[in-house]
Amino acid sequence: MIYFDKVSKWYNGGESVALEDVTFQIAPHEFVSIVGHSGAGKSTLLKMLLAEDRPSDGTVFYESTDIHKIPRGRLPKFRRKIGTVFQDFKLLPNKTAYENVAFAMEANGRSDEEIAENVPQALELVDLDDKIFNFPHQLSGGERQRVAIARAIVNQPDIIIADEPTGNLDPIATYEVVQILKKINDLGTTVIMTTHNKGVIDELGRRVITMDRGRVLRDDESGKYVL
Ligand code: ADP
Repeated sequence: MIYFDKVSKWYNGGESVALEDVTFQIAPHEFVSIVGHSGAGKSTLLKMLLAEDRPSDGTVFYESTDIHKIPRGRLPKFRRKIGTVFQDFKLLPNKTAYENVAFAMEANGRSDEEIAENVPQALELVDLDDKIFNFPHQLSGGERQRVAIARAIVNQPDIIIADEPTGNLDPIATYEVVQILKKINDLGTTVIMTTHNKGVIDELGRRVITMDRGRVLRDDESGKYVL
């Protein structure tokens, strides 16, 4: 369970308000989209959840833990519960698909045996088992994003945060990425996705939190894109 309790975030002594009195809960296994115009507060909200920045007011809980009270030394362990996917993929260009995914496990101190078992499984889950030795420049945008998703899930996080994951993709690749995120969600991982893509939201038919000027404007169980 993720619980934002009256979270506000302001910068420059209150001159710039990024979040204002934001309250919501996300249950385990939910698939939630966060929508809103540029500047609505979506990135700030994700930063709070990743404990990359602190709220000016209010509390963010993960289960019973106030995540902004986690000592610095324990933050890496907390962050391992969350896999991240970005619009621009953030793959290492000089590593193959396999090596990009393996690197995330190495960074987590996993054994060679675990890596040899889990990396092919993660790449199979994103339907890339035939391209595991391709470098990013030998992959399409959609394929690169699927490598990034494999990397995000390989350490079996509780939550996937996908920040505009289809922002750079054509409609077919967008459809494929959304299907894979749905599959990962069906397997039990909570998915939190920001998007500007009306088609994605309407196709998903899942919960939508609409942000506007730092506030939650709407929170619809089976939402439509209404901006
Ligand atoms: P979104 O991701 O929805 O585009 P952001 O969370 O990036 O929105 O930003 C929300 C508001 O907070 C914007 O008005 C932005 O200018 C402001 N903001 C975000 N980060 C900072 C910062 N580090 N310093 C000052 N203002 C910021």
